[in-house]
Amino acid sequence: MKIPLTAKPGTSSQVKTGNWRVLLCPEVDHEKCIGCGLCEKVCPEGICFSTGETNSKGKVFFETDLDYCKGCGLCADICPVKAIAMKEEKK
Ligand code: SF4
Ligand code: SF4
Repeated sequence: MKIPLTAKPGTSSQVKTGNWRVLLCPEVDHEKCIGCGLCEKVCPEGICFSTGETNSKGKVFFETDLDYCKGCGLCADICPVKAIAMKEEKK
């Protein structure tokens, strides 16, 4: 039996799902980030990532890829130093 799919594998780079987000989006305060990586672990989209850059305290800070972020807020909830704030979308 053939099952119809809505998207073919490997097409995510052409289908930027971040535009599904309707209310809030995460904003990372790079200076507050301690590079613990918890946001990366909980993000259901797998789009919290280490930038490889360091802040003034020498900590590698993380960022989110808003092209694919759905705005669920899990990253902000888990962040131990409150470095992620869910802010109103500026479109
Ligand atoms: S708001 Fe949700 S989808 Fe967006 S980066 Fe945070 S955990 Fe990932
Ligand atoms: S959870 Fe917070 S402190 Fe940890 S890497 Fe993510 S933004 Fe930085």
